Amino acid sequence: MAQLKIQRPKGTQDVVPSQMYKWNTVESIVKEAAEAYCFKEIRVPTFEDTALFVRSVGDSTDVVQKEMYTVKAAGDSEFTLRPEGTAGVIRALIENGVLNEGVPQKVFYVISCFRHEKPQAGRLREFHQFGCEMAGTADPSADAEVISLAKNIIDTAGLKGIELHINSIGCPKCRPAYIKALKDYFSARSGELCDTCRERLERNPMRIIDCKSPVCSAIAEDAPKNIDYLCDECAEHFEKLKEYLSAMDIDFIVDTKIVRGLDYYTKTVFEFITTDIGAQGTVCGGGRYDGLIGTLSGKDCPALGFGMGLERLILTMENQGVEFIQPHTCDIYIASIGQQAHKRAMRLCAALRAEGVYAECDIVGRGLKAQMKYADKINAKFSVVIGDGELESGKAAVKDMNSGEKTELPINDSFSRAFSALMISHMLDSEELGDTLSDILSELPSSQPPTGGCIS
Ligand SMILES: [Zn+2]
Ligand SMILES: [Zn+2]
Repeated sequence: MAQLKIQRPKGTQDVVPSQMYKWNTVESIVKEAAEAYCFKEIRVPTFEDTALFVRSVGDSTDVVQKEMYTVKAAGDSEFTLRPEGTAGVIRALIENGVLNEGVPQKVFYVISCFRHEKPQAGRLREFHQFGCEMAGTADPSADAEVISLAKNIIDTAGLKGIELHINSIGCPKCRPAYIKALKDYFSARSGELCDTCRERLERNPMRIIDCKSPVCSAIAEDAPKNIDYLCDECAEHFEKLKEYLSAMDIDFIVDTKIVRGLDYYTKTVFEFITTDIGAQGTVCGGGRYDGLIGTLSGKDCPALGFGMGLERLILTMENQGVEFIQPHTCDIYIASIGQQAHKRAMRLCAALRAEGVYAECDIVGRGLKAQMKYADKINAKFSVVIGDGELESGKAAVKDMNSGEKTELPINDSFSRAFSALMISHMLDSEELGDTLSDILSELPSSQPPTGGCIS
């Protein structure tokens, strides 16, 4: 009988254990940055009522038209796997009355989103996003603050050559005049546009501006620019934003081609762009969406935010050779010979783990040689062998796997404390940590770095 071969769905990704450290690195960078800006984490469901996305993202967008994963379970209404993060989070802020708890409300999240797109480098059907949303402020300094958070993450990640592109796409007051100018301009050349853009001409002409087809983008080159059609309020908002960004030493490029794909944006839109990952150069995109909360709740409340694709962030970091935080490997491997010794090894491991030490012993039933080979393979920092002799003497030699240096420690209930002290003393001897830690310790009154050797 042929074996059933089931593979992961197209456009999804497995992160195997050996690669997880990259994800842990970016997730800790984004979370720490958001917390430093006093954003609080929020969690929301993976699927929502389909109507939420149709109303917020916009029913003429590619996302709603072509890319949503919509499911209907028996007897239920229709749900959609979230294609983006903002709509669900804003729904949650409204539904839970968070917006009544004072403004601004600042939240962040790390989630997966789902879009039925053609998979390509840095663009998956299930992708992961860091996002943040700020609600309750119409002030342009909030726009600058949100952009500054994105910049902080990009800098902390160590990325180079990323440009901030900003634009203003106006508000419901000034946009109709601009849309009309766009329609007039593109209608005159509609024969040359791609099929998608010919459809966009009536429903969503702003999207023609960021069409990737070379013909469309050449035509869009001379299209009317949104910033020339802004009302006084939008124009002043954009000027102030530029002043705040300059005040924070954040370089930017005014880029009238940035329109963002979703209907809910107003005024400020921005993207951080790199040329590093081929097909998709946008590391982060966001903007202001002053109308969204009103659309969903009937109560106006200005808001803004951004999303950052974590796959793209990791890809860009890999391409640029940025260092990720290496995972913590095993501190000590306890090898044993015989049943009694094996029991002692398990007891010692449990005690070590209670002290926060990463400890392992044999759970496969290997011989001593194979156990030591395994200790090497997992990069254990220390190892110790327990056999009949060690059980009898109550001591065993703990070996620093790097230097080969051996230290005798008692293998009774004081082993875990003794080993922790030994580990710290070896850390202090290491070149990277030695100087810094001795400096710190020398400044403390009557405190000395622990010395190596047997501590019982
Ligand atoms: Zn306006
Ligand atoms: Zn086109």
